[in-house]
Amino acid sequence: MIPALMPTYNRADLAFERGEGSWLWTVDGRRFLDFGAGIATSSLGHANPHLVRAIAEQAGRVMHVSNLYRVPQAEMLAARLVESSFADSAFFCNSGAEANEGLIKMMRKAMAGTGRGERYRIICFEGAFHGRTLATLAATGNAKYLDGFGPVVDGFDHVPLNNMNAVRAAIGPHTAGILIEPIQGEGGIRAAETQFLRDLRAVCDEFGLILGMDEVQSGMGRTGRLFAHEHAGVAPDVMSLAKGIAGGFPMGAILAREPVARHLVAGTHGTTFGGNPLACAAANAVLDVLLDPEFLGTVERKGARLRAGLVTLVAEFADVFEAVRGMGLLLGLKCRLPQATVNAALLAEGLLGINAGENVIRLMPPLTVAEADIDAGLDMLHRAARRCRASAAAGLAAQ
Ligand SMILES: *Cc1c(COP(=O)(O)O)cnc(C)c1O
Repeated sequence: MIPALMPTYNRADLAFERGEGSWLWTVDGRRFLDFGAGIATSSLGHANPHLVRAIAEQAGRVMHVSNLYRVPQAEMLAARLVESSFADSAFFCNSGAEANEGLIKMMRKAMAGTGRGERYRIICFEGAFHGRTLATLAATGNAKYLDGFGPVVDGFDHVPLNNMNAVRAAIGPHTAGILIEPIQGEGGIRAAETQFLRDLRAVCDEFGLILGMDEVQSGMGRTGRLFAHEHAGVAPDVMSLAKGIAGGFPMGAILAREPVARHLVAGTHGTTFGGNPLACAAANAVLDVLLDPEFLGTVERKGARLRAGLVTLVAEFADVFEAVRGMGLLLGLKCRLPQATVNAALLAEGLLGINAGENVIRLMPPLTVAEADIDAGLDMLHRAARRCRASAAAGLAAQ
């Protein structure tokens, strides 16, 4: 019989009842170190007092009014995001897929609005993940996710990552723009090369195309800069955000600059919940922390500490792990043993990591993770690696 809760996920048999900082406790009292952060989402950790207070206070005043009225919290959030990014304007929604859906619509509308309506196609990359709606699934292009859902939404061309010849070859009379994750998250912490991002910017300028970046996972401080593209010194024309933007409260955003931003005028796009007072209060509280002049430097330092520890781990356990990927606190361990084996050992040691493509386990602690907790996580990883090695040896002996 089907469970009442639709089984769209293969869930671990763990139910958490409370969290504090980077730690979670199950209903039966076991403690786990959360290096998954709810898929790079609980950016301020669990039960962060500033975030909790902001949400509680806003909920006690007014939660939702709809976008038929002014929302001062949204106006403030948009102004702060514009002030701290390449963008001139922001649209708020409720998830990463919805942000990308809006980003795709914005690209197409901007082309139509400048007399180039035949340009509706978007170049995307192999290994990408952009969401689970019909259009964002087509942008994702993963056959496994598309199977059984009818005709694939038209308008997306896929090319290999970091291959400029393939990008140039894919540009045609119907191309509107390019959509890229600066670091592929679900795909296995696969980074676009700095030069590749610069070349994409140049080719978009050359052909009058729109450069879109999906920073749903890599944005909002995750890599030690507010947005991952800042590392490459190039800016997109439009960017999607979600995951960490409101610290675990569901929210997404599209940030765009002119002359692209102006095309989603009244009546062309909308959302009932998007950017409501409660979500914006949560996101403003997250920004209070992220925009502190000291904060992103701490993310960078903590990321370097974790990364250095992982490099040592991989060197010591080359039979278990293959390589470290990523930057800041968006890190991944490419495993030599099957991901499932390693993850089971991590869970047995009390550490939560998250599977990604290419047999990578993502390690993405809250951005507020304490240095002592990074060290605790590294100890758990060493113990888990010894467990994997012992069970691999036992497996060999049994053969
Ligand atoms: C998670 C993710 C999405 C989808 O976000 P949802 O909130 O699950 O819809 C889109 N793009 C990237 C890069 C993501 O990591």
